[in-house]
Amino acid sequence: MKKHVILDLDNCIADDSWRIPNINWQKANPMERYHDYHSLSAWDRLCNARIAHDTRYHHVIFTARPVLYRAVTEEWLRRWGVFHEVLIMRNNEDHTPSVELKRRMLQWLPEHYGIELSNIEAAYDDRPDVVEMYKQQGINGQILSVHDVCAYTNPNKEAA
Ligand SMILES: [Mg+2]
Repeated sequence: MKKHVILDLDNCIADDSWRIPNINWQKANPMERYHDYHSLSAWDRLCNARIAHDTRYHHVIFTARPVLYRAVTEEWLRRWGVFHEVLIMRNNEDHTPSVELKRRMLQWLPEHYGIELSNIEAAYDDRPDVVEMYKQQGINGQILSVHDVCAYTNPNKEAA
Protein backbone atom coordinates (compact mmCIF):
# COMPACT_ATOMS: atom_id res chain seq x y z
CA MET A 1 0.00 0.00 0.00
CA LYS A 2 1.33 3.42 -0.98
CA LYS A 3 2.22 5.66 1.92
CA HIS A 4 1.38 9.34 2.17
CA VAL A 5 3.66 12.37 2.25
CA ILE A 6 2.45 15.74 3.56
CA LEU A 7 3.67 18.81 1.69
CA ASP A 8 3.44 22.53 2.45
CA LEU A 9 3.22 24.97 -0.48
CA ASP A 10 4.67 28.44 0.18
CA ASN A 11 8.45 28.29 0.59
CA CYS A 12 8.36 24.50 0.52
CA ILE A 13 7.50 23.43 -3.03
CA ALA A 14 6.40 26.89 -4.28
CA ASP A 15 8.91 29.73 -4.56
CA ASP A 16 6.96 32.64 -3.02
CA SER A 17 10.05 34.82 -2.42
CA TRP A 18 9.30 37.21 -5.32
CA ARG A 19 5.78 38.07 -4.02
CA ILE A 20 6.68 38.62 -0.36
CA PRO A 21 7.09 42.39 -1.09
CA ASN A 22 3.38 42.35 -2.01
CA ILE A 23 2.38 41.68 1.60
CA ASN A 24 0.57 44.84 2.73
CA TRP A 25 1.69 45.41 6.31
CA GLN A 26 -0.63 48.44 6.59
CA LYS A 27 -3.59 46.05 6.82
CA ALA A 28 -4.50 44.69 10.26
CA ASN A 29 -6.72 41.91 8.87
CA PRO A 30 -4.59 38.99 7.59
CA MET A 31 -7.07 38.28 4.76
CA GLU A 32 -6.41 41.78 3.43
CA ARG A 33 -2.72 41.83 4.34
CA TYR A 34 -1.94 38.71 2.32
CA HIS A 35 -4.49 39.15 -0.49
CA ASP A 36 -2.08 40.30 -3.22
CA TYR A 37 0.62 37.89 -1.98
CA HIS A 38 -1.75 34.89 -2.32
CA SER A 39 -3.32 36.13 -5.57
CA LEU A 40 0.09 36.15 -7.26
CA SER A 41 0.86 32.54 -6.31
CA ALA A 42 -0.23 31.44 -9.80
CA TRP A 43 3.16 32.57 -11.13
CA ASP A 44 5.37 30.74 -8.65
CA ARG A 45 7.88 28.27 -9.94
CA LEU A 46 7.86 24.75 -8.55
CA CYS A 47 10.80 23.90 -6.31
CA ASN A 48 11.92 20.66 -4.68
CA ALA A 49 10.30 18.80 -7.58
CA ARG A 50 12.18 15.65 -6.62
CA ILE A 51 9.86 15.38 -3.63
CA ALA A 52 6.75 16.97 -5.19
CA HIS A 53 6.88 14.55 -8.15
CA ASP A 54 7.82 11.43 -6.19
CA THR A 55 5.24 8.93 -7.40
CA ARG A 56 6.16 6.39 -4.72
CA TYR A 57 3.81 8.28 -2.41
CA HIS A 58 0.36 9.79 -2.32
CA HIS A 59 0.62 13.50 -1.67
CA VAL A 60 -1.38 15.43 0.89
CA ILE A 61 -1.10 19.22 0.75
CA PHE A 62 -1.48 21.29 3.92
CA THR A 63 -1.42 25.03 3.30
CA ALA A 64 -2.20 28.06 5.43
CA ARG A 65 -3.51 29.81 2.31
CA PRO A 66 -7.23 30.55 2.73
CA VAL A 67 -9.74 28.55 0.65
CA LEU A 68 -10.52 31.78 -1.22
CA TYR A 69 -7.46 30.84 -3.32
CA ARG A 70 -8.45 27.23 -3.92
CA ALA A 71 -9.04 27.55 -7.67
CA VAL A 72 -5.69 29.22 -8.36
CA THR A 73 -3.93 26.74 -6.07
CA GLU A 74 -5.48 23.67 -7.73
CA GLU A 75 -4.65 25.03 -11.19
CA TRP A 76 -1.05 25.71 -10.14
CA LEU A 77 -0.69 22.14 -8.82
CA ARG A 78 -2.19 20.76 -12.05
CA ARG A 79 0.08 22.81 -14.31
CA TRP A 80 3.20 21.76 -12.41
CA GLY A 81 2.12 18.12 -12.36
CA VAL A 82 1.86 17.82 -8.58
CA PHE A 83 -0.68 15.02 -8.19
CA HIS A 84 -2.34 15.03 -4.80
CA GLU A 85 -5.07 13.08 -3.06
CA VAL A 86 -5.97 15.77 -0.56
CA LEU A 87 -5.60 19.57 -0.46
CA ILE A 88 -6.51 21.15 2.88
CA MET A 89 -6.56 24.94 3.15
CA ARG A 90 -7.28 27.45 5.88
CA ASN A 91 -10.89 28.61 6.20
CA ASN A 92 -11.43 32.23 5.21
CA GLU A 93 -11.15 34.58 8.21
CA ASP A 94 -9.67 31.77 10.33
CA HIS A 95 -6.56 33.35 11.87
CA THR A 96 -5.34 30.30 13.78
CA PRO A 97 -1.49 30.30 13.96
CA SER A 98 0.13 27.87 11.51
CA VAL A 99 1.34 25.33 14.09
CA GLU A 100 -2.14 24.88 15.58
CA LEU A 101 -3.78 25.02 12.14
CA LYS A 102 -1.61 22.22 10.76
CA ARG A 103 -2.00 20.18 13.96
CA ARG A 104 -5.76 20.29 13.33
CA MET A 105 -5.32 19.39 9.65
CA LEU A 106 -3.26 16.39 10.73
CA GLN A 107 -6.07 15.17 13.00
CA TRP A 108 -8.56 15.52 10.13
CA LEU A 109 -6.68 12.94 8.05
CA PRO A 110 -7.87 9.92 10.08
CA GLU A 111 -11.16 11.57 11.04
CA HIS A 112 -12.33 12.74 7.62
CA TYR A 113 -10.06 11.30 4.93
CA GLY A 114 -9.44 7.73 6.04
CA ILE A 115 -5.68 8.30 6.22
CA GLU A 116 -4.04 6.83 9.33
CA LEU A 117 -1.11 8.76 10.78
CA SER A 118 0.88 5.49 10.83
CA ASN A 119 0.63 5.51 7.03
CA ILE A 120 2.43 8.86 6.67
CA GLU A 121 6.01 8.50 5.47
CA ALA A 122 7.05 12.13 6.06
CA ALA A 123 5.75 15.67 6.46
CA TYR A 124 7.63 18.58 4.85
CA ASP A 125 7.34 22.23 5.86
CA ASP A 126 9.64 25.26 5.77
CA ARG A 127 8.77 26.27 9.34
CA PRO A 128 10.79 24.63 12.14
CA ASP A 129 7.89 25.12 14.60
CA VAL A 130 5.50 23.23 12.31
CA VAL A 131 8.06 20.46 11.77
CA GLU A 132 8.52 20.22 15.55
CA MET A 133 4.74 19.81 15.95
CA TYR A 134 4.78 16.95 13.40
CA LYS A 135 7.55 15.24 15.37
CA GLN A 136 5.58 15.61 18.60
CA GLN A 137 2.68 13.87 16.86
CA GLY A 138 4.96 10.95 15.98
CA ILE A 139 5.33 11.98 12.32
CA ASN A 140 8.67 12.08 10.47
CA GLY A 141 8.78 15.88 10.13
CA GLN A 142 11.39 17.35 7.76
CA ILE A 143 12.34 20.96 7.09
CA LEU A 144 12.12 21.71 3.36
CA SER A 145 12.45 25.28 2.15
CA VAL A 146 13.34 27.36 -0.89
CA HIS A 147 14.64 30.62 0.59
CA ASP A 148 15.23 32.49 3.87
CA VAL A 149 12.86 35.45 3.45
CA CYS A 150 10.25 35.53 6.20
CA ALA A 151 6.64 36.26 5.15
CA TYR A 152 5.32 36.52 8.72
CA THR A 153 7.21 39.44 10.24
CA ASN A 154 7.06 43.05 9.12
CA PRO A 155 10.48 43.88 7.66
CA ASN A 156 9.81 47.60 8.27
CA LYS A 157 9.73 47.16 12.05
CA GLU A 158 12.92 47.12 14.08
CA ALA A 159 13.46 43.82 15.81
CA ALA A 160 12.83 44.13 19.55
MG1 LIG B 1 5.39 27.39 4.11
